[in-house]
Amino acid sequence: MSPHARRREALRAHLVAADVDALLVTDLVNIRYLTGFTGSNAALLVHACGDAASRFCTDGRYAARARAEVPDLEPVIDRASAPALAAAAPGLGVARLGFESDVVTVEAHDVLAAAAPGVHLRRLPGRVQRLRAVKEDAELATLRAACALADAALADLLAAGGLRAGRSERDVAFELEARLRGHGADAPAFETIVAAGARSALPHHRPSGELLRAGDLVVLDFGARVGGYHSDMTRTFVLGAGAAWQRDLHALVVAAQAVGRTAAVPDADVVAVDAAARAVVEAAGRGEEFPHGLGHGVGLEIHEAPAVGPTGSGRLAERMTVTVEPGVYLPERGGVRVEDTVVVRPGTPEVLTGSPRELVEV
Ligand code: ZN
Ligand code: ZN
Repeated sequence: MSPHARRREALRAHLVAADVDALLVTDLVNIRYLTGFTGSNAALLVHACGDAASRFCTDGRYAARARAEVPDLEPVIDRASAPALAAAAPGLGVARLGFESDVVTVEAHDVLAAAAPGVHLRRLPGRVQRLRAVKEDAELATLRAACALADAALADLLAAGGLRAGRSERDVAFELEARLRGHGADAPAFETIVAAGARSALPHHRPSGELLRAGDLVVLDFGARVGGYHSDMTRTFVLGAGAAWQRDLHALVVAAQAVGRTAAVPDADVVAVDAAARAVVEAAGRGEEFPHGLGHGVGLEIHEAPAVGPTGSGRLAERMTVTVEPGVYLPERGGVRVEDTVVVRPGTPEVLTGSPRELVEV
């Protein structure tokens, strides 16, 4: 059985529990996870009875790719992939059809309903995402490689003196991304963040033409995409000798991050993991300046289930891959964020991102 067929089999148990005859999968990342298909138009009907009654649909542009990537499912060629499979559902004995209500718009739902009169559509959000959250050995190996590659790119950047006063944020981001590719990344995992000086206090700052200056805190948040999987790491540096407030702020974030990692064990409530790290920041009187969740799942998407934060829900499980990334941001002065990608394991997590966390003065 192929890994994709195994995943569809695992999904079937959830379909039976949800009392549907099939699930119509329309999210392309979920389709890739369940079939291996990498094209940009597809739908997948996973039948509770097995692959023989399941169908994969894409349009004519991807017919050859579908044969190569999805050899084990009967293809349907139709440009309107999701309605085509909804229309095929009654002929496959489907009376109750689950759909991904977290990704299907109201308009698309109405199209599905019209395509399959008499079929009861049932909302089933997040079912495949829940499976994806727990990684297989091969997925972990790819994530490990992506993280190691990002470590190597950062080490090269620092060794080459690439992080220095007088360069623009954009130049640093460009060099880091080039080094990621040089080490074999398919692409950066997301748009690299380089945020210096007061701009380091903006968690989602985009690299600008502004120059790095001596004394700046510099936040680098970046990752590599390898085989569809993403790595995610943040390190914060200071250009020159760090001031006392910068060293204190960095030490606070590193301490919170260590507590967060320790709390990331199987069965831990995601809200409690966040709260453990947050308590360290709050005890220092800086709770208000930690404005985002502690972390997120990472895999085929850079942000995926589970959300580890005050508004998350559920528990961690062994083999989930999550980030631990507290940040404290002082407006107009600067911010510090330290982020690792870790695999949840009994006891202590496996940390995939290996770059030193201590404040490096460059
Ligand atoms: Zn990040
Ligand atoms: Zn992240």
